[in-house]
Amino acid sequence: MADARIDIAVFGGGIVGLWTLARLRAAGYAACLFENDALGGGQTLASQGIIHGGTKYALTGKLTGSAMAIGEMPAIWRAALAGTGEIDLSAVRLLAEHQYLWSSGSLASGMAGFFAAKVMQSRMQALPSRDYPAPFDAPQFRGSVYRLDEPVLDNASLVQALAEQVSDACYAIRGSSFERLASGWKVSLSDEVAIEAKAVVLAAGKGNAGLLAAAGRNRPRMQTRPLHMLMLRGHLPALYAHCLGASANPRLTITSYPEPDGRVVWYLGGQVAEEGVGRTPAEQIAAGKAELAELLPWVDAGNVEWATLPIDRAEVATPGGKRPDDAYVDHDDRIITCWPTKLAFAPRVASLVLDALVAADVAPGPAVAQLSLPRPPVGELPWHGVSTWN
Ligand SMILES: Cc1cc2nc3c(=O)[nH]c(=O)nc-3n(C[C@H](O)[C@H](O)[C@H](O)COP(=O)(O)OP(=O)(O)OC[C@H]3O[C@@H](n4cnc5c(N)ncnc54)[C@H](O)[C@@H]3O)c2cc1C
Repeated sequence: MADARIDIAVFGGGIVGLWTLARLRAAGYAACLFENDALGGGQTLASQGIIHGGTKYALTGKLTGSAMAIGEMPAIWRAALAGTGEIDLSAVRLLAEHQYLWSSGSLASGMAGFFAAKVMQSRMQALPSRDYPAPFDAPQFRGSVYRLDEPVLDNASLVQALAEQVSDACYAIRGSSFERLASGWKVSLSDEVAIEAKAVVLAAGKGNAGLLAAAGRNRPRMQTRPLHMLMLRGHLPALYAHCLGASANPRLTITSYPEPDGRVVWYLGGQVAEEGVGRTPAEQIAAGKAELAELLPWVDAGNVEWATLPIDRAEVATPGGKRPDDAYVDHDDRIITCWPTKLAFAPRVASLVLDALVAADVAPGPAVAQLSLPRPPVGELPWHGVSTWN
C-alpha cells in the first residue's frame, strides 16, 4: 500500500528535474521530485552556465538541425530571466550578457566562411579593435574578437531560484525501487515511504542508467563523455570567451565568477578539458598553464591558485559516442527518460515531457499531502568544494 498517490514522480534535481517540476506544477500536475544527493550537484552546478544559441554547434561551418533547435533557447531563457517567461528566473544572477569569440591569429579558411555566413552574422558581431574588452584591449593582442549574444548565468543562483519555487515538492531519498502497476508505477523511496505515480520522469543525468535498470529497463542507453575541467583563482579580469582553434570545438572556453573577496575564479573548458581526461590533476594544471601562456601570454596568471574537476557529461548514447544533436526525451510505458545534452535545452525537455504526458493521456489529478521525507540540500559550485588549491 502506498503512502501517497501522485501524478508524476520526477527523479533528479538538476536543471531538467527542477525546470520540469516547475512546469508540471504550473500545468496542474501533482508532481514531486526525488533527489539522492544535492539539488544541482550533478552536472548543472559544474556547467559553465552558457545559454548556447547554437553558435558553438555551428562552428563546423554549417548549421545543423541541432543548431537550429538550440537557436530558440536563448529567447525562452531571456523571458524567464526577465520574469515574463514560462517560469520565473528573475532572481537569477546574470554573469554576462554576452560572450566573446577570439582567434589568436588569422582564421582558418573554413572558419572565415563560417563567419561570413549570413545566418551567423545575426548571432555574432565582429568588434572593431577600439571596442575590445579586457584582456583583448592589450597592445600585445593580434587576433580578432567577435561578440556573441549568448548570456552566461551564475549556476548557484539558478539552482537556488528554482529550488525556492519548488522546495515544497522536493524530497531527499537514499534509493528507490520500482514496481509496475496497472495505473502507473509504485516507487519505494525508503523502508517506510512508498508512492504511486501515474508516470515517472527520469531526470537524474548520470543516475538515469541505474534508475532504468531498477525499473527493469536496459533502454534507452546512456553514454558518458568525460571532461577534466580547470579552475584558477586570483586577481583576474572577468572574462567570458571561447578561443577558436583548428577544430569545430573551441580550444578553450573561459567563464568567470567574481568571489566576495575580490578575487575571480576562471573556469576553463573546451578542448583543453576534453584532451585532459587521461591526465593527473598536476599534469592537467601544467597543460592549463601552457595554454594560457600561449593564448593570453600578457595576462598575469603567475599568482593564482589552481585546481581541477574531473566530471562526466551524461547523454543518450549515439553511434560513435558523439555529442547528441539535440535534447533527448523518450517515453516508454509511463517512464519518461530525459537527457538535455545542454543546460540550455532544459526548457525544450520540459515541453517535450508535457507533450509526452498529454499523448499518454496522463491528466492532472488532485493535489497531494506532504510526504514524510527530508528536504534535499542545494549543492555548491565546484570551486567552493575544493579542499586544496595548488
Ligand atoms: C563541465 C561541464 C560544463 C558544461 N557547460 C555547459 C554550458 O556552459 N552550457 C550548457 O548549455 N550546457 C553545459 N553543460 C551540459 C549541462 O551541464 C548538462 O546538460 C545539464 O546540466 C544536465 O542537467 P540534468 O538535470 O539532466 O542532469 P544533472 O545536472 O546531472 O542532474 C542530475 C541530478 O540527479 C541526481 N541523481 C542522480 N542519480 C539519482 C537517483 N538515483 N535518484 C535521484 N536523484 C539522482 C543528481 O544528484 C543530480 O542532482 C556542461 C556540462 C559539464 C559537465
